Amino acid sequence: MKYLAVFLGLFACNFSGEPLQQVSRAEAVNVSITTDSLILPQYDGNKRLIKVTKTDAEWKKQLNELEYNVLRQEGTERAFSGDLWKNHAQGTYVCRGCGLPLFSSTTKFESGTGWPSFWKPLKPEYVKENTDNAYGMTRTEVECARCGGHLGHVFDDGPKPTGLRYCMNSVSMNFVPE
Ligand SMILES: [Zn+2]
Repeated sequence: MKYLAVFLGLFACNFSGEPLQQVSRAEAVNVSITTDSLILPQYDGNKRLIKVTKTDAEWKKQLNELEYNVLRQEGTERAFSGDLWKNHAQGTYVCRGCGLPLFSSTTKFESGTGWPSFWKPLKPEYVKENTDNAYGMTRTEVECARCGGHLGHVFDDGPKPTGLRYCMNSVSMNFVPE
């Protein structure tokens, strides 16, 4: 009887050991999927932009902590901390949440703020502008028209020809070189 128990014990170890190891390996993988390509908008029968909607859990799975805080909770990255304010390459800035093209490098300018700044979006219908009264100021918030991700704010102290300054967060966007 004693030998049978030892034998069954070994048997059980051999069988349960391998799947357990596989589970822990899967848990160790840091799942982070970011959209780094341009995904053109699609329109419904009434020529309305088809929206991208995801649950909070799905956004948390796709975005890292800072991206989630900025895009989904209207946070702001620290000035000069992002990777796009000093980018001078030719190309298109796309939403990090859904890949919608937002800004062209041809409208980017040096604002000195430490955030990527543009004087015009690629198309007015690609961004949605809302009044933001947070922190005792009245500002105009800019979000992605397709997924509702927070991008930054727009101010009226920009350069010609529009006089606008779209002050964006680097973490809200990806850069797709030409
Ligand atoms: Zn988006």
